[in-house]
Amino acid sequence: MHDSIFNPRLPFMSPDSNNEAFSQQVLQWFDGHGRKNLPWQKNINPYRVWISEVMLQQTQVATVIPYFENFMARFPKVSDLASAEIDDVLHLWSGLGYYSRARNLHKAAKMVMDTFAGEFPRSVDELTQLPGIGLSTAGAIASISMGIRAPILDGNVKRVLARYQATTGWTGQSAVAKQLWRIAEEYTPHHRNADYTQAMMDLGAMICTRTKPSCLICPLEQNCLAHKAGEETRYPEPKPKKDKPERSVRMLMVINEFGEVLLEKRPPTGIWGGLWGFPEIQIDEVLPEAAQNMTGLSLQDFEEWPSFRHTFSHYHLDITPIKSFTARASAVADGDRWHWFQPDQPSKLGLAAPVSKLLSKIRRSL
Ligand code: SF4
Repeated sequence: MHDSIFNPRLPFMSPDSNNEAFSQQVLQWFDGHGRKNLPWQKNINPYRVWISEVMLQQTQVATVIPYFENFMARFPKVSDLASAEIDDVLHLWSGLGYYSRARNLHKAAKMVMDTFAGEFPRSVDELTQLPGIGLSTAGAIASISMGIRAPILDGNVKRVLARYQATTGWTGQSAVAKQLWRIAEEYTPHHRNADYTQAMMDLGAMICTRTKPSCLICPLEQNCLAHKAGEETRYPEPKPKKDKPERSVRMLMVINEFGEVLLEKRPPTGIWGGLWGFPEIQIDEVLPEAAQNMTGLSLQDFEEWPSFRHTFSHYHLDITPIKSFTARASAVADGDRWHWFQPDQPSKLGLAAPVSKLLSKIRRSL
């Protein structure tokens, strides 16, 4: 997941009094109202900031907190993460979504150990060499944990700056992204870099919210162009709409004579990459034959459960669960591809959200 398609490495700019005023207002607001007790704001180091920043991409603070704490309890140092099994990492990520983030964390931790001798690189350029770290995440790690002057441009900051400057166009367009990076660079102060980065993220999350910005208590109210025009929610402009495609799949829930459910490991890339799920049968395949060919099991008593929809960022997936039984568990053994999952004593595996939901339903039905 890249923070930007544009590289903002701009020439150094001397402090300008307007820019200074902007950062002063933001920092003053932060001193009185910013968040200072989030779990990743304690014992600050590049590893903790990195994990929190990646978890916070696409996910709210309240959701991230328990995930962050569990993750740190299990992998307190980058070396612990680097030496972990990917299944363990995906297990702790289960439910957060966008699983490529977890796979990239694991790869990047190994790279920190192997290429950087266990020390986080101390520049934005080198940080962006690590998988899954885009320019904004690198800027956040560098400024918050190392005090380096580096702009950030995550979703919250884009919103604040686009409104403050009434920047037109969708932020996914390179010209618009370029303009916002330039503004972000100009406003980044030459002191208190860690606080400024946190302040901008807090301002976007707490005051300049997507649908109901609290302009009257915003430190930028006086000069914000969107507010002056009474058009706060016009910026940033949304991505041009395109209907999401719809896909359908059947998930085969095979239960054996011990009440165990058959799970299959998904390929390492693609949706739910590396997680465990149910074997999938396409809608146009003939059911008993396709199911038996795929699993190698003799299956019986097929029962179709009501379909439900799972929506990804780029398409809708309509899932039809099919329950069936087999009395020949020994024909498929636990291994790299298959796993007999005990719903009563769940093993620690990475599971996609709809699969967890269906396993709970199976547990209740047995
Ligand atoms: S004045 Fe309103 S629109 Fe402008 S930055 Fe502040 S909260 Fe956002």
